[in-house]
Amino acid sequence: MTGSAGRVVVVGGGHNGLVAAAYLAKAGHKPLVLERREVVGGAAVTEEIAPGFRVSALAHTAGPFLPGVAKDLDLARHGLELLSADPRLVALSPDGRAAAFHTDAQKTAAELARFSEKDAARYPELVGSLGRIAAVLAPLLTSTPPAVDSPSLGDLLGLGKLGNAFRKLPKRDAHRLLRWGPIGSTPRCCAPSSPRAESSGRSRGRGPPARRPRSFSRRPASRIPRAPPRT
Ligand SMILES: Cc1cc2nc3c(=O)[nH]c(=O)nc-3n(C[C@H](O)[C@H](O)[C@H](O)COP(=O)(O)OP(=O)(O)OC[C@H]3O[C@@H](n4cnc5c(N)ncnc54)[C@H](O)[C@@H]3O)c2cc1C
Repeated sequence: MTGSAGRVVVVGGGHNGLVAAAYLAKAGHKPLVLERREVVGGAAVTEEIAPGFRVSALAHTAGPFLPGVAKDLDLARHGLELLSADPRLVALSPDGRAAAFHTDAQKTAAELARFSEKDAARYPELVGSLGRIAAVLAPLLTSTPPAVDSPSLGDLLGLGKLGNAFRKLPKRDAHRLLRWGPIGSTPRCCAPSSPRAESSGRSRGRGPPARRPRSFSRRPASRIPRAPPRT
């Protein structure tokens, strides 16, 4: 920020930078977004990969797209339409085999069985576990981080709620959350030869898919200080 008017500079025009800038603009600021590429969008950018074929060039799903953000920014009016595909993705192997990942865990397990019976048997359990863990973590996406040095009553209540939700998890899920979260390792459900990297939506198979980086853009717009009136 510079000067008393507080000009806000957002470095990077990925979707988080753009959402943050949009909220800042709604709050009356005049953010300046600096993007080093010739297009904005970051990993969510739409590019023409072959003549006439425009696709999201990196991210393949909309992830935990918060309905509140879409509503606040009136994205439907700007043409946003979310489509869900089933199968959600297809993992290709160099040997010519492929596994489709469906919304239905049992259907996916049947695909995985062609690679590993063991993985197939454990896949539905993995999906169930991730769902329960994600439900505990989901509120974090829209909460302001607590003030670590001097937490307010609201901060403590929020942490208490989180702790309570954590305690209600089955013991096995609680253990997995603590293990998968910090170390970012691939859930140990899969044999080395199976398409586990693709199952987590990442190119090298590191980290469970439920974890997402937190970002400023997920703060409710009401928490952004209003810009001072212009004189
Ligand atoms: C291989 C892969 C697949 C993924 N698939 C998915 C998916 O399917 N669904 C999903 O929800 N998430 C997916 N993710 C995660 C998702 O891409 C990130 O969470 C998301 O891109 C973060 O958005 P962002 O705006 O913070 O950063 P980015 O999208 O990384 O955008 C950062 C922007 O900043 C610009 N920039 C960087 N440095 C500078 C600088 N110094 N000056 C100016 N500009 C700069 C970059 O050019 C870029 O445009 C995937 C990630 C990877 C790596």
